[in-house]
Amino acid sequence: MDLRRVHERCVREVRRLDLRPPLDIGALCARLGEQRGRPIHPLPMTARPTDPSGIWIASQTADYVFYEQNTSRLHSEHIILHEIGHLLFGHTGGGVLSDSTARLLLPNLDPALVRRTLARSHYSDSDEQEAELFASLILSETGFAVVPLSVPEPPEEMSELVRRVWAVLGSPGRS
Ligand SMILES: [Zn+2]
Repeated sequence: MDLRRVHERCVREVRRLDLRPPLDIGALCARLGEQRGRPIHPLPMTARPTDPSGIWIASQTADYVFYEQNTSRLHSEHIILHEIGHLLFGHTGGGVLSDSTARLLLPNLDPALVRRTLARSHYSDSDEQEAELFASLILSETGFAVVPLSVPEPPEEMSELVRRVWAVLGSPGRS
């Protein structure tokens, strides 16, 4: 896919979202979750520098976007929007994990719960560009969020997965 087409697709997708400033990422996730019939749960983590700063995990019923919180608000928001970009565009790479992270995490994840696993394969470069551009376009159109993200309670069925991800990649409390 050439860069111009990536750009056009991003602009179209961002327009479709019809966002008005100020950006409220929690509300955006809620709205998209309703439209898609699959809730999107943004969840903070404190990752090591070698870990990815954002991870999208799709379960049978919901999408979980883990984002690095130990950085600027703007960067955290960019990470969440980047992962939402992958999700909306249907990218299937699943996330970029180092081998060591994947080894630690994957055996702990119940395959019955996780539909799209944390693949070790990297997204194609154009997927990365698309997600990155999507996030940047939203932030440049709406300015960064003034509404702080609350940390939601993960649904019961997934609390084990969330707990394990936090155990491996760092819970919000770790610094
Ligand atoms: Zn990405």
